[in-house]
This record gives sequence, structure tokens and C-alpha cells, in this order.
Amino acid sequence: MRIEKIELPYSTSGTTRSLQVFRFGRAAVGPKIYIQAALHADEIPGMLTAVQLCNRLETLEAEGKVVGEIVVVPVANPIGLAQSIQGSSFGRFSLADGTNFNRHFPELIAPVAERVRGRLTVNAGQNRELIRVALLESVSTLCVSDEVSALRRTLLSLAVDADVVLDLHCDSEAVTHLYTSTAHAHRAGPLAAALGAKALLTAEVSGDHPFDEAVSRTWLELARIFSEYPISQSCFSTTVELRGDGDVSTALARHDADAILRFAALEGAILLDHPSAIPTAVAATPLAGVLPLAAPVAGIVVFERAVGDWINQGEIVAHLVDPISRSELALSSEIDGVLFARTRSRYAIAGQRLAKIAGREPIRSGKLLSP
Ligand SMILES: [Zn+2]
Repeated sequence: MRIEKIELPYSTSGTTRSLQVFRFGRAAVGPKIYIQAALHADEIPGMLTAVQLCNRLETLEAEGKVVGEIVVVPVANPIGLAQSIQGSSFGRFSLADGTNFNRHFPELIAPVAERVRGRLTVNAGQNRELIRVALLESVSTLCVSDEVSALRRTLLSLAVDADVVLDLHCDSEAVTHLYTSTAHAHRAGPLAAALGAKALLTAEVSGDHPFDEAVSRTWLELARIFSEYPISQSCFSTTVELRGDGDVSTALARHDADAILRFAALEGAILLDHPSAIPTAVAATPLAGVLPLAAPVAGIVVFERAVGDWINQGEIVAHLVDPISRSELALSSEIDGVLFARTRSRYAIAGQRLAKIAGREPIRSGKLLSP
């Protein structure tokens, strides 16, 4: 195991933050898998899973069983992790500019296309290496104006040449679910199954350019731009939501680390002696098919259904109770689907999203992710 410390440019005098990067195996001899946790800084389940992963990978490496390269960043957002306001963590948005830490990653399609134009050949392997070099060069020349943009550039620089990128997050209260590109649903299926996920949500473009799309979508677009040349989809990326933010336990982290290692073995990055079989792949459903159940009025939230439940159209998911008039409003689902996430908050302001149900048919368009 090699530990690398990457310092971020300071934002105020007397402060310094850094990323700690744990590397296992060797570069350029097999598949590279990049795993980061807690980009939304106070999402801790992935952080503990990363600890378990590093423990297991240390042993596997000593046994000579890491045959590719695995890079783990257990704390992907030290800026957000320090954002504690009178005892409450605030890790989703930057206090400096209000932006979501997992949105607005730089677009790499145009700069990479310019770098490879006129240099592609009929050899898919050569094209892959050419594009990877162009990706790294393009990331290295991105303008950095502050600590947050430096963080985004640094994370991209670690991940953009990987074969597989896993971005570990969690929801508020949830069962495990994954987001990935429609083109990569077949690769995410076994990982989702190994993790015991209840939903695999796919979109070609989900909006506002989250990290997973920033590292993989360039390949899809280059294949379209240079359709006369063979360009393989050489970066599979997925956002993995490891249940809810309170689901932090050693048992769960060990389970999730084990699932990720079984997937890494399937991808050819590590060797496992007796990996247990991965169950049937989870079927993908469109991210555009997710129904966000919102509160039409303010009230006390009383959920009637648990995360992981299958909900039929018309069934009541929650009641909103007005504490003044004592009236109750039933909130029912407009679709059939899996209730895969719900808010931990038990008081809703008008308009607040309370739960998410994964349906099979698209019902939305535009920006598809939560704010
Ligand atoms: Zn998150």
C-alpha cells in the first residue's frame, strides 16, 4: 500500500487541507479501479466501507492478489467535512458558494476531442490510450480559482483514466441503490446485485454534471463525434448509495466492502480464492422513472411504508398531519415501483421532497437528480 497526500490550495491564511490517497497494486498492469467515499462529506457509510476495503486490500496485496491497481480515497471532501454548524454537519453544499459538491464537474468532451482530433486510428487499444492521455492532460490544464474547484480537479485527475470508478454516497433513509449511465447498466448490474441493491437507476444525462458522469460520459460523446473510429467505452462509473446516513455499522461496511471486492475480482483487478457467486443482476430502471413524492402542504410526516417496499399505484406512502387543525392528508403513489429512499425529517415544509419511488416508465425530463 502506498499513501499519497495531495494538498489543496489554501482558501484562508493558516489553513491547509489535503486528500489522502491509498494505492494498491501497480499502475498499468491490469484494470484500474478508483473508489472514493463521502464526496457529500457527511455521508459516512462509504467512509467506513473504504476503511474495510483498505484492510482487505492490504492483506490481498501482501498475498500478491492485487493484479490491477486499486485507488481508494476514503475522505473525498475534506472541505465539506469541516463544515459543521453548531454541531450539525453540512456536507452536501459548499458554504463558500452554495454549490452541491457533486455537481458542476468540468466538461472534458471538447478539450479531449481537440487533443485527439487527427490522431485516432483503426486500432481501438491505441485510441483508448490516446484518449486517456488526453483526458489527463485536459484535467491538468483546468483552471482552478478556489479550494472547491481545486478539489474537483484533483478528484478528476485521480479517476479519469480508470477502467472503473465507484463514487460511494448514501441517502437520508434508504436501501442500497445505484446510478449509472444507460450505456453501462449491464456492468452495474452485477455490482448492484452483490451489494444487495434494490434499484439501479440509469440516465444518459442526469443534469448538472455529477462526478460519475464527468469521468465516463466523455467516452460516449467521443464515440459519437468520431464515429468512423473504434472507441470503446473504457470507463464504467457509478454512484453507489449505501443506504441511509444512519446506516453505519461494521457489519454493513464489511458486507459492502466484500461485495465491491467480488466485483473487483469480476473485473480482473484482484484475485479471490473462493468468491461467493454474485446473484442475478438487478434490473435497471430509468432515472426519469423516479417519482419524487413531495409534500403539497406543511405538516408532520408519518410514513406508512418502509424503504425497500414495493408500492402499487394509489397506495398510501405517508400521511401529513397538520398540528394546528389536526387534519390528515394522505400521500399516495402515482406509479408502481420500489420505495428506495425517504427523508429522515419528520416535519415537512410545503414543497419538500419526502420519498423517491423507482418506477419502470419515464415520467420526468430535464434535471433528474435531487438538488
Ligand atoms: Zn451524496
